[in-house]
Amino acid sequence: MPLLSVPKLGIGSAGSYSPGMTRGEPTKTVGQSRAGGEKALTVHCLGCYHEGVKTFEELKLWNDMIFVDVPKYRRLVCTPCRSRNVKVMPIFPTARGTMGHTS
Ligand SMILES: [Zn+2]
Repeated sequence: MPLLSVPKLGIGSAGSYSPGMTRGEPTKTVGQSRAGGEKALTVHCLGCYHEGVKTFEELKLWNDMIFVDVPKYRRLVCTPCRSRNVKVMPIFPTARGTMGHTS
């Protein structure tokens, strides 16, 4: 498990991402989310539009995991419709006070 910390975590610096298969997409990592104060994400079902909140801790995400790839590493199954066709969205700490969830 790659739990090593990345020495240069460039926040907001587009351009030099980690080598590999990046295609110029916004490939924010879990580490960058954490650095921005995020602790959780929302999971949206593309089948029935159910949505839920999962914390990074709950899913045991590691820092260099690409945020949008979380469903590839974690079996996120929609509870109502059993679909695995889900996508994850970040929860920004200051955005909308809809989260009644403090850690
Ligand atoms: Zn669903």
